[in-house]
Amino acid sequence: MNYFHYKDNALWCEEVPVTEIAGKVGTPFYLYSERTLKHHFRVFDAAFSGVPHITCFAVKSNSNIAVLRIFIAEGSGVDIVSGGELYRALQAGVDTRKVVYSGVGKRVDEIEYALGADILMFNVESSQELEVINSCAERLKKKACIALRINPDVDPETHPHISTGLMSNKFGIDIKKSLEEYRRARTLGQLEIKGVSCHIGSQVTKISPFLDALERIKKLVRLLRDDGMDIEYLDLGGGLGIAYDKEDVPHPSEYAKAIIDASKDINCTFIFEPGRVIVGNAGILVTEVLYTKSNDAKNFIVIDAGMNDLARPSLYNSYHRILPVIDKEREEIIADVVGPICESGDYLAKGREISRFERGELMAVMSAGAYGFTMSSNYNSRGRIPEVLVRDDQFFVIRKREVYGDLIRGEVIPEFLR
Ligand SMILES: *Cc1c(COP(=O)(O)O)cnc(C)c1O
Repeated sequence: MNYFHYKDNALWCEEVPVTEIAGKVGTPFYLYSERTLKHHFRVFDAAFSGVPHITCFAVKSNSNIAVLRIFIAEGSGVDIVSGGELYRALQAGVDTRKVVYSGVGKRVDEIEYALGADILMFNVESSQELEVINSCAERLKKKACIALRINPDVDPETHPHISTGLMSNKFGIDIKKSLEEYRRARTLGQLEIKGVSCHIGSQVTKISPFLDALERIKKLVRLLRDDGMDIEYLDLGGGLGIAYDKEDVPHPSEYAKAIIDASKDINCTFIFEPGRVIVGNAGILVTEVLYTKSNDAKNFIVIDAGMNDLARPSLYNSYHRILPVIDKEREEIIADVVGPICESGDYLAKGREISRFERGELMAVMSAGAYGFTMSSNYNSRGRIPEVLVRDDQFFVIRKREVYGDLIRGEVIPEFLR
């Protein structure tokens, strides 16, 4: 469900034609629908309305402060993985009692920043990190609330690069060692044990891996409680997938029902860290066709957006639907849709059956709201592209297009070269 639709053969976002925005801000740009963002957040959050829970939007999926603000106004917390993400969430006005901090490599300055902000809890990923958080808290004369991020060793059956809950992944603490680690945490004076967390991977399109993880985590919660620990929060992470193409994905309400049914016997406040499922289908990338060319082997459509703007196809070989912004009768061809970057891996689609596009036409790369802008870079010294938010019949540039000056901001030619 989203608010990108065709009207008289033209693609609209809510009540604004995409061509109108392209005319004003130029291409390429990311385009988000506020109505869709809100709708997705509400559907997810409402699915858990029957149980105590906090929905902590995963900032890394889309970290624009205007986007964060929409969710925060709806009561969302955030899942952060860096000091920079905490800064963004604070700028967006987050309730710091709804901030959970995940990540395998938290630095001391980041831990201190989060302690100073009084976040809800750290999801700790190693025994060394426990020690470091404890000593930071000692220095700041604070208590640090923690959960251990457990690696439950379940296969989320997703792309290997976005699976995180297997022993072969770097994430979390081995479930077999978890009781021992919790006992150690208890001996550290500045730590308050609050919960158990896990996050098995991303773009998970089945419910069963979540339930497998939950079963293992529930056993651990019982052990910890029998041992006298007060486990208030059960953080089940994010990872619910979306339909990029024709995948059959569970609706958030099915996911919620399965989790709620499987945890009737455990009295906890749930934390969820959804990212993709909230923002993925609420955003598109709009790009212009620069050139078309063919050789004996292939057709190429060269567009003005590249792997530096949308990295997912190059990184994970992931699929994004590509639609014309102005639809008309077209011949279907097989083509590679490629960007301007000087890398063979720079493509948004390979061997795709696609309409014949001409130079100057606009293309919409669908389902680009999650891990789109946030993974973008300045590679090839290309300025990062704008982000635009549509609300009803208006649009707002929520991040400006970078200019040449932005590219060298912070760079210095030392005296000896002058
Ligand atoms: C990336 C991540 C998420 C969000 O994952 P989605 O697949 O976007 O829902 C949640 N929690 C943690 C710890 C993550 O690393």
